[in-house]
Amino acid sequence: MIPYRSILIVGGGTAGWMAAAYLQRVLGANPAMPVQIRLVESTEIGSIGVGEATVPTLRDTLKILGIAESELFTQADATLKNGIRFNGWKHGGAAADDHYDHPFDHPVSLQGHSTMAHWMNLRQRGLTAQAFDEAGGVQTALFDKNLSPKFLNSPDFEAPIAYAYHLDAIKLAALLRRVATERGVQHSYGEVTEVEVGEEGITAVNLKDGQRLTADLYIDCTGFAGLLIGKALKVPWVSYADSLLCDRAVACPIAHAHAQQPLRSYTTATARAAGWTWEIDLQSRTGTGYVYSSAHCSDDEAVATLQQMHGSAQPMAEPRLLKMRIGHRARMWEKNCLALGLAGGFIEPLESTGIYFIERALQSFFDFLPATATAQCGRQKFNSLIADLYDELRDFILLHYVISGRRDTPFWRSYTEAVVIPPSLQELLCLWDEKLPHNTDIQRKQSLFTAANYFYILAGLNRLPSKGFGQSSYLAPSVSQGALAHIAKIRAAAVQQSPSMRDFTNMVRG
Ligand code: FAD
Repeated sequence: MIPYRSILIVGGGTAGWMAAAYLQRVLGANPAMPVQIRLVESTEIGSIGVGEATVPTLRDTLKILGIAESELFTQADATLKNGIRFNGWKHGGAAADDHYDHPFDHPVSLQGHSTMAHWMNLRQRGLTAQAFDEAGGVQTALFDKNLSPKFLNSPDFEAPIAYAYHLDAIKLAALLRRVATERGVQHSYGEVTEVEVGEEGITAVNLKDGQRLTADLYIDCTGFAGLLIGKALKVPWVSYADSLLCDRAVACPIAHAHAQQPLRSYTTATARAAGWTWEIDLQSRTGTGYVYSSAHCSDDEAVATLQQMHGSAQPMAEPRLLKMRIGHRARMWEKNCLALGLAGGFIEPLESTGIYFIERALQSFFDFLPATATAQCGRQKFNSLIADLYDELRDFILLHYVISGRRDTPFWRSYTEAVVIPPSLQELLCLWDEKLPHNTDIQRKQSLFTAANYFYILAGLNRLPSKGFGQSSYLAPSVSQGALAHIAKIRAAAVQQSPSMRDFTNMVRG
C-alpha cells in the first residue's frame, strides 16, 4: 500500500513528463491501488528545451516505461552515443593533437588484471606510446569512423557494447506526454501563481485562472524556478558555485550540410576561453551550445564564440541564453513534495547527467516509498543518497577542470588559484597519485561513476600515478603486451562489423 491516492505534477518539461509516464506505469499497473495522476503546465513559461545527450541508464528507464527504442529514432530524432570526446582540455591545443575520449564501455580484465593495469605497466616502462582510451578498450575505435555501437540487426536496447542516446529534448517530452496521457495521466494547462502550505506540506496550488488543485503528493518539476520545493516549502539550495564556475549557457541548433551528412556517434565537448562548447549530432540537425562562466565572459562574447564555431553552418534558430543554477536542494523530498529535474538540482552538463538524475530520483523514490505519508526514515535516506550523488558528480565534473593543463585564461587559472576543491576530491587525487583507481576508493553511498570512468579522465589529462602504481609494476611486460594486442584485435573486428551511425538510423527509419 502507498499513502497517495492522488499525485499532482507541476511542470511539463522532461522531468514532468518522465515522472508522469513513470508513475503511471508503476502505480497505475496495480488496479487494486488506483492513483490519480495529473500534470499541469504553463503555456507561458516554456521548458528549457535542452538536454540532448544521455547516459546508458536511459535504456533501462525506457524499458520500465514500456517505450520501444525504435520510437526514439522515429519520434525524437535520436542517434546513438558511444561516449564523449574532449577537445582542447589537455593544454588548449587544436583537436588533432589535444583530445581524449571518455567511452561508456569499461576496461575488461585480462590475465587477472584490468587493462588499466596493463597499459600503466607498459606506459611506466616506456613500452607504449598509445593513449589509454585507444589501448585500453574497444569503444573508442567507433568514435573516429562515426560508427554505431549497435549492429543493424541488434534487438531493441541491445548491443555488444554499452551505449546511450542523443535526442531532441522537446520531442522526447512530447513522446513521454503521449505515452503518459494515453495511459491515463490527466493533463491540463495553467500557471501556478500561489502555493498553499500547511503542517504536512503543500495543501493546494492555485492557478492563474482561479482553479484550486489539491493532491496527496505534489511533484515539483517547475525547472530552475523550484516553485513548490523552494519558494513555497523554503527548502534551502546547496550551491556549488565556489567549485564549478560555469553559470550560463547559450544554445543554438545548426542545420546539417546535406541530408546524408555523417553523424558523429559521440558528444563533443571542446574547451574554450571561459568554459566549453558542445556539439551533438541528431538525425536532422546538430545541437550546439557554449557553457560559460559569466564572471569571465559576457553573453555577447559567448554568442560570438558559438557563431565562430558554427563557421558556415546554417543556424536554425536565434541563440538562446540560459542561466544555470549549479547545486541542489538540501532535501529533494520534503513532506508531501518531491522535486525532480532542475527544480531539485543541476550540475553543468559536461557528462550529460541531467536526465540521469531524474531517472535515479524516480527509482529511489519508489525504493523508499513509505506506507504512511508521515513516515520519515525512507525520506531521510532518499535525501541523503541523492545529496551524496550530487556531491560525487560535483567532484567528477570538477576533476576535468582541476587536472586540465589549460591555464591560458583567467577562467582556467581560477581552477588553480580560486576555486574550492572539496576534501573528497583532494583525497582521491592524493590517492591516485600513488596508485591506480579502484572502485573501492570511491566511498560513496551509490555511485554513477566507476574507477574506470575516473581513469579515462585522469589518463586523458595525463594525471597518472607517479609515486608507484600498485600490482601492475610486478606484471611481466610480455603479459601486458599480449593483453593489449588482444584488445587491438577486438577493436579492428568492431570497426569491420559496425555500421555507420547514418546507415543505422536510415535502417531504423526504414
Ligand atoms: P524545464 O524544462 O525548465 O521545465 C519546467 C516546466 O515547468 C515547464 O513545462 C514550465 O512550463 C513549467 N512551469 C514553470 N513554472 C510554472 C508555473 N508557475 N506553473 C505551471 N508550470 C510551470 N541534461 C542531460 O541529461 N543531457 C544534456 O545534454 C543536458 N544539457 C543541458 C544543457 C543546458 C545548458 C542545461 C541548462 C541543461 C541541460 N540538461 C541536460 C539538463 C536538462 O535540460 C534537464 O534536466 C531536463 O530538461 C529537465 O528539465 P525540467 O523538466 O526540470 O525543467
